Amino acid sequence: MRWFVLIPDTDAKQALRIRRYLMAAGGSFLVVFLLAAGYLQGLLELPVLLEATVVICALVALFYAVFRSGLNRLFPDPSLTMEQIIVSIMVVVFIMYQAERMRGVLLMVYVMPFLFGAFRLERVRLLLLVLLVLFAYAGTVLLSAYHRPGNVDAATEVTLFVALGTLLPWFAIMGRYIHSLRGRLYESNRELRQALEKVQDISIHDELTGIYNRRFLMEALRREIARFDRSGSRFSVGLLDIDHFKRINDECGHATGDAVLQEFADLTQAGLRGGDMCGRFGGEEFMLLLPQTELEHAKVIAERLRLAIEQREFSGTRAPRRITATIGIAAYRAGEDTAQIIERADAAMYRGKAQGRNRVVSSED
Ligand code: GH3
Ligand code: MG
Ligand code: MG
Repeated sequence: MRWFVLIPDTDAKQALRIRRYLMAAGGSFLVVFLLAAGYLQGLLELPVLLEATVVICALVALFYAVFRSGLNRLFPDPSLTMEQIIVSIMVVVFIMYQAERMRGVLLMVYVMPFLFGAFRLERVRLLLLVLLVLFAYAGTVLLSAYHRPGNVDAATEVTLFVALGTLLPWFAIMGRYIHSLRGRLYESNRELRQALEKVQDISIHDELTGIYNRRFLMEALRREIARFDRSGSRFSVGLLDIDHFKRINDECGHATGDAVLQEFADLTQAGLRGGDMCGRFGGEEFMLLLPQTELEHAKVIAERLRLAIEQREFSGTRAPRRITATIGIAAYRAGEDTAQIIERADAAMYRGKAQGRNRVVSSED
C-alpha cells in the first residue's frame, strides 16, 4: 500500500488540475536553482537564498494543500491560474528587491507564468498581468534607487523595462495563437471522428429501411461461425421473404412498396430479443441471425414473427392491407461456411413458398 499519493485519482478533473499545478510548481524550483547558481557566483547573500527557498517551498506547499483539500473548488476558476501567476510575480519581485545583481536573470523567469497563463487566460487578463509585472518591476527599481542609489544604473533598468514591456505581451500573444491552433486541431479531429463514425454507420445499414444491410449480416454470420468454432455455441439463421410483394408494387406503386418495406423492417426489428439480429438481405428478403439458438427455439421465434406480420394492418398502402411472409430456418452445422447455411435456409424458404406461403419451414422439415 502506498502511504502517500501525490495525485489522487478519485476525481479526474481535480487530478488534472493537480498535475498541471505540479508542473507549474516544478518551475518554482527552477528559480531556487537559479538563485543557488547566483549564490555560488557571489551574486547574492546566503540569507537571501535561504529566505527565498523557504518562501517558495512554503507557497508551493500551501497551493498544494489548497488543491488537495478541495478548497480550490470554491474559486471561480478552480485551476487557480490567475492566483498562481500573481503570487509567482510577487515572489519574484520580492526576491529581486533583495538580490539586485540577479535582477536581469530573474526577469527571464517571468516568461514561465506567461507560458502557463497563455493556455488558460483570456487576452484582457494576460495584459493585466503584463501591467502588474511592469508596475512591480518599476516599483522595485524605484525602491532600490531610493534606498541604495549606487546600485541602480538608470540606462540598464530602462532598457530592461522596455524589454519586459515588449517581450511579455509578445509571449502572451504567441501563446494564445498556439493555443488557438491546438483548439482548432482538436475541433477538426473531433469532426473527423464524427464523420468516420457516420461512414461506419452508413456502411452497415440499409439505406431504405435503416436496419442492418447484407454486408453487416455476412460479417455477423462469419463472427458467429468463428464463435461456434471456439466455444461450440450453436446459432440459427432465418431467411424471410414477403409473399407476393410484386402485387403491392403493381397495385399501389413502387413508393408504396418502399413504405411497406420500411414498416415491415420496423415490425421485424421490434419482434426480436436483444442479441438477435435482423437485416435486409436484398429486395423484399430479410435475414434473421439468432445467436445461441437451437433449431426448435428458432422455429418458435420465427413463428411468432410470422404471426405478428400476418396480423399487422400495413398503413403505408392506400387502403390498409395485410401481408404475409414465408420464413425458412436452419441451424448451423459444424464445418459449414456462410454460403452453405444460407443455402439451406433459402431452400427451406422456397419449400414454404411451394407449400402455399405464409409459413415457417425448417431445413429439417
Ligand atoms: P413471392 O411470394 O414468390 O416471393 O412473390 P414476390 O412477388 O414477393 O416475389 P418476386 O421475387 O417475384 O418479386 C419481388 C418484388 O420485390 C419485385 C421487386 O420489384 C420488389 N422489390 C424488390 N426490392 C424493392 C424495393 O426496394 N422497393 C420496392 N418498392 N420494391 C422492391
Ligand atoms: Mg424474393
Ligand atoms: Mg417475395
